[in-house]
Amino acid sequence: MGNSLAILGGAQVSNRQWPRWPQPGPRALKNLEDVLNSGRWTLSCAYQGRPSYEQRFAAAFAEYCGAEYCVPTSTGSASLAIALEACDVGAFDEVVVPGLSWVASASAVLGINAVPVLVDVDPATYCVDPGAVASAITGRTRAITIVHAYSAVADLAALTAVARQHGIPLIEDCAHAHGATYQGRAVGTFGDAGAFSMQGSKLLTSGEGGAIITNDPEVADRAGHLGSDGRMRSRSQLSVGGMELLETGRIMGSNSCLSEFHAALLLDQLDLVDEMHKRRRESSAYLDQQLAELGCVGQATTEGTTGRTYYRYAVKLPEAALEVASVATIIEALSAELGFRLLETYRPLNDNVLYRPTTRRRFSISPDYLEQVNPQRFDLPVTTSINDSVVTFGHEILLAPPEAMEEIVSAFNKVLSNIGDIAG
Ligand SMILES: *Cc1c(COP(=O)(O)O)cnc(C)c1O
Repeated sequence: MGNSLAILGGAQVSNRQWPRWPQPGPRALKNLEDVLNSGRWTLSCAYQGRPSYEQRFAAAFAEYCGAEYCVPTSTGSASLAIALEACDVGAFDEVVVPGLSWVASASAVLGINAVPVLVDVDPATYCVDPGAVASAITGRTRAITIVHAYSAVADLAALTAVARQHGIPLIEDCAHAHGATYQGRAVGTFGDAGAFSMQGSKLLTSGEGGAIITNDPEVADRAGHLGSDGRMRSRSQLSVGGMELLETGRIMGSNSCLSEFHAALLLDQLDLVDEMHKRRRESSAYLDQQLAELGCVGQATTEGTTGRTYYRYAVKLPEAALEVASVATIIEALSAELGFRLLETYRPLNDNVLYRPTTRRRFSISPDYLEQVNPQRFDLPVTTSINDSVVTFGHEILLAPPEAMEEIVSAFNKVLSNIGDIAG
């Protein structure tokens, strides 16, 4: 009985308090209090005689990524939609999107009345397959959106080549990859724009938030206008009580501004991000190696990756175990042993309850459009097989001490050794 699985009433492998996320840094409270008393809670409030936190965060994040420009936004979803529109993507244009991602990667495309074209991913990296991208390009393709998924960097050499060959913009969805590097350079700087999310689960977070980075001044200018109701940030000397946002009317936008509170929190978090990346890498290296001995295969990254960021740790279960029990059952058993929640990968976007264009009348532009955006017309066998065989857990778990990583390995070992007990 001593070794019976926790899900069947046995003792748990671990009953530790796992790290939680998000965690405030040392400057968070002071920064928030500063905003509270500043008389300026967002960029569109009157100038108060000193640089906004929004502007300070933009400068710091651009520097962190080695990008020329950063335009903060309210969410990652807004960042994606603005990045696409800043690259002149619009109604009925086709945009290539990986089939394995959070729903926003595709819904942001719908949001600008464009057509998401879902393509399959690489079985080892879970990032979009460059060959599949090339095959999906038609005369109406106007952009490629890629995702650096979980802990991998997509094949930027191949993907930038495909984009260049067809003369279409490449948008990097970097929601999992703040500070990940490829050939020594931060992701988000390889495409025409990089879109980030700072939502509460992300590696750099203010609860909600986002940012776009680019080296193209025209893309930056358009993104700024699109995210602040058609206004742009003033470059001239401001006087107290004046408005920083100028009404140029150059391009119409909507309001996706990042508040001063959020920017103040992000400045605090940015100081901590690299040290945490380092700890997560150490934990993941240990897990990859130990879990391989149990027949599991950790997520790979593209050759040329120089710095991984772990948004979620992901590992493929042994085929022999999956012949006995489903990934969902194994996840329940592992979660019971460890006392934190493991999850499957994102549901493939061609069969995802959160991605149903027909449930919103705004997408009924024409019968033709509804047919083009029907997710079920796409075939995603690799994405589906990853969803049927990979378990993931959140990056905060990787911040636990080395003994905790040993407990994770023990839990995998226990569940896989007793797989027959959860057969069916
Ligand atoms: C979180 C996420 C988004 C959306 O960001 P929000 O800030 O929640 O709008 C987009 N793409 C990916 C890959 C994400 O993980």
